[in-house]
Amino acid sequence: MNVPLAPPQVTLKPLDRLDWSPRFHRLPAHFYSRVLPQPLPDPYTVAFNPDAAPLAGMAPEEGRRADFAEHFCGNRLLPGATPLAAVYAGHQFGHYVPRLGDGRAMSLGETVGSEGLCDLQFKGAGLTPYSRMGDGRAVLRSSIREYLCSEAMHALGIPTTRALAIVGSDQPVIRETVETAAVVTRLAPSFIRFGSFEYWYHRREAEPVRTLADFVIDQFYPEFGGRPDRYELFIGEVVRRTAHMIAGWQAVGFMHGVMNTDNMSILGLTIDYGPFGFMDGFDPGHVCNHSDEGGRYAYNMQPRIAHWNLYALGQALVPLLDPEAIEARLNTWDTLFDQALEARLRAKLGLATADPEDPALVEEMFALMAESRLDFTLFFRNLARVSVTGPVGDKAIRDHSMNPARFDAWAARYRARLAREGSRDAERRVLMNAVNPKFVLRNYLAETAIRKAADERDFGEIARLHAVLRRPFDEQPGNEAYAAAPPDWAGRLEVSCSS
Ligand code: AMP
Ligand code: MG
Repeated sequence: MNVPLAPPQVTLKPLDRLDWSPRFHRLPAHFYSRVLPQPLPDPYTVAFNPDAAPLAGMAPEEGRRADFAEHFCGNRLLPGATPLAAVYAGHQFGHYVPRLGDGRAMSLGETVGSEGLCDLQFKGAGLTPYSRMGDGRAVLRSSIREYLCSEAMHALGIPTTRALAIVGSDQPVIRETVETAAVVTRLAPSFIRFGSFEYWYHRREAEPVRTLADFVIDQFYPEFGGRPDRYELFIGEVVRRTAHMIAGWQAVGFMHGVMNTDNMSILGLTIDYGPFGFMDGFDPGHVCNHSDEGGRYAYNMQPRIAHWNLYALGQALVPLLDPEAIEARLNTWDTLFDQALEARLRAKLGLATADPEDPALVEEMFALMAESRLDFTLFFRNLARVSVTGPVGDKAIRDHSMNPARFDAWAARYRARLAREGSRDAERRVLMNAVNPKFVLRNYLAETAIRKAADERDFGEIARLHAVLRRPFDEQPGNEAYAAAPPDWAGRLEVSCSS
């Protein structure tokens, strides 16, 4: 019998004595460029996340150190850190770009943390050989969005990179307007992307594709190591993890906004938060990114795009594998994704069993949500109020419906379905509220925190919002305002690729 090993106990360290154990740096030098952060004037800590510190093996109280900001913008290099920028390529909006790379991100190396090795990465710490026309910087606005959303997604149970801190500076950074610079420290076992493989494949260099695949398997998929079919198992597992991640996105109404293959993690993590959004009023074709004029990354396109991106990865693995074997693994997508999404939807509806009638029930639900542009998050949260015994609990949704008769008909069907499986209101409500969040990072909530930070240098709202989003499924009496659908002023908010 296999006895699971207890997680390794790590002693949390001061920031200048982290337990570095660089791995990516062991790859041949053509996979990256050594870089150094560019100093920022008078840095200050904008946000610090004590929850994430142990992941890096760092004691949470280190966030209060006077020299924290100096270290976490890169002005003072953490002892033991060896910053590098990785090279990668990618399909951007469907078009292959042969060389992208970390244009403003740099990995400091891996440390030993509470969940194993953890890559610490700065985003916005200055120019790298991959900066192309960019300035190597990130603005405070987009850094706050990335920080809050990584942590919100984690709390929702969706695989994601994490965020440790934001350090700001008054140094101006020019976007559509003049903004100020910030550095986010983000954490993940690895930031290797689909595009990291594509880079070598499209240069017709097979050996680095193999080296990278062996590295990723050795570090992150060790169960496949040494097996003759390891590359096949590897791509199969990436398909499975990606399906699980995308099902998670669809189930909470999350839209990534820029699903280019360079923004797809080889570990199936949500990565590179830019013009993302959470669905407010339900519109299946909603495009959250105003730079995405063709709607390539609309909400209802995400599963298809993820599959397309997996094909781009599969193509890059052709030097290692028989194309038919790759295709067979890629073709597991439909089943894996459908199963993952169905399981999530069943839980969202509080259904304990599967019934042949369920797809039709779900389809009609989404149709009436779309017809009345019902708020995605509030709809599912309020769905728990619907009772098996009668329509009293329907009100919370019905009152917002533009077609109450249609909703009544659906609610009656849903009630009958619940009754058929002997569902009990009290028990079902507890289970539904554990999967249907009350709080998500709505655009206007992020915007409020951003305005306070940028205009008044008041970072309190970032911390308050983070505290709410850490417990998205809890009722949190007193925090109702954070669960509200967007106010009128939020209708004019736009997010774009500019960050
Ligand atoms: P993204 O769409 O944000 O994932 O970025 C695509 C590519 O552009 C990546 O290679 C980034 O590193 C690079 N990039 C984005 N913004 C900047 C910037 N301000 N300076 C340098 N490179 C950037
Ligand atoms: Mg990116």
